[in-house]
Amino acid sequence: MAAEHRQHNRHHGHSQGHHEEAAHHHGHSHAGEDMLSVEEALARVMASFAPLEPVEAALLECLGQTLAEDVTSPLSLPPLANSGMDGYALRGADIAGASADSPRRLPVVGIIAAGQMPERAVESGVAMRIMTGAPVPDGADTVVPFEETDEVQRKREGRPLDEVAVFAEMPVGANVRPAGEDIRPGQLVLEAGTVIRAAEVGVLASLGLNRARVIRRPVVSVLATGDELETAGSALSGGRIYDSNSFSVAASVAACGGVPRLLGIARDNLDDLHAKLSAAVDSDLVITSAGVSKGDYDIVKDVLEQRGAMNFWSVRMRPAKPLAFGHLRGNDGGKDVPLLGLPGNPVSAMVAFEMFARPAIHAMLGRRVRPRPAVDGVLTGPIRNYDGRRVYARVEVERRDGVYYATPTGPQGSNILTSMSRANGLAICPEDLPVKQAGEQVRIIMLDWNEEVEL
Ligand code: AMP
Ligand code: MG
Repeated sequence: MAAEHRQHNRHHGHSQGHHEEAAHHHGHSHAGEDMLSVEEALARVMASFAPLEPVEAALLECLGQTLAEDVTSPLSLPPLANSGMDGYALRGADIAGASADSPRRLPVVGIIAAGQMPERAVESGVAMRIMTGAPVPDGADTVVPFEETDEVQRKREGRPLDEVAVFAEMPVGANVRPAGEDIRPGQLVLEAGTVIRAAEVGVLASLGLNRARVIRRPVVSVLATGDELETAGSALSGGRIYDSNSFSVAASVAACGGVPRLLGIARDNLDDLHAKLSAAVDSDLVITSAGVSKGDYDIVKDVLEQRGAMNFWSVRMRPAKPLAFGHLRGNDGGKDVPLLGLPGNPVSAMVAFEMFARPAIHAMLGRRVRPRPAVDGVLTGPIRNYDGRRVYARVEVERRDGVYYATPTGPQGSNILTSMSRANGLAICPEDLPVKQAGEQVRIIMLDWNEEVEL
């Protein structure tokens, strides 16, 4: 149908909202005819996306964003040599040969807690009580843990802590964490492009940084289209269904690091579509759903074409064959905004998001665009391929005895959203295979490594 639609426009010029139903019912579209492969469609989409500009953000807000600049350390970590154990700081040479039978007794000349500076040095023949993380006093090179001394016994007996018996020798340097062991001043600690996870948040904080320069999150406008749609929370009148796409798509946007902006529902008429699209142009990406497939009222297509340069594709995949991609002209000479038109069926919308919108959002976030993790597994039920498209079947993946088993989550109609909810993966039947049978090997794209499921 995409081919027919383009032809229709070529022959009749840009449609000014006119509408010829007939144009959409001649001929029969069959597999192979003017369809784009998933890879080709993705390449065409991705050509329009690059990292957005950097902004400075508070540390916790940076989670999931990419660093826009290298981070070098302003300090040494740890700043000073410090103790790795609660114990006694001393000179290793002073306890050479010590054992339970032949302990070394040393006067205790002080105590030092974490966060304090030692008040004196440790010379030969003495020891200083020291807590984990406390700076090792000058002169000391070794820490003997309490366990290798009479610490506990002395305390139990209420003896004064002015002398310690050491029951074991230690290699010089034992339990001393040298200054700069983790990070040296001026060291490149995190490179531009690093995705900030909890560990990176921690590393930045350990350098004393409470902000970071990161690539801005894209604002993604989400617009549902259709006269039949009602917003969740309101009453449902006859013939209508609730709009799930706005919410599944907006949630998907948030899940991959974008900022969703719900534009609501545009009715299938020119005025409403124009108004809602005008509200979308100051975002980084507009995602619409429905109105781009055959049999539709075509108004969405016409309005999109009037407002920018749009392509209507058939992608060789199931679900989610119809896809629109192009650019909306900005208001008053503002910049053009990429628009991705997802199919209307709820599963198609989610799978098309997965294949095309998620990589685009990741590209804007400056992430290396990585596909989801995929595993090879064994199918427990067939995946049928009726018309030479690549089938992405919703499956529940489980691991038994080290083997991944993929079980289709019931009827695979593109309207059956609960089968998406039951799925944690998409199992692939290639374009050129009429069926993948139970028992056959299958490639599975993992949608989530569900933490509540043992995999
Ligand atoms: P369309 O592309 O407009 O022909 O829509 C295809 C199918 O998806 C129809 O059954 C629509 O009712 C359904 N649909 C479209 N938009 C939504 C939506 N936002 N939420 C749930 N279903 C939808
Ligand atoms: Mg519709």
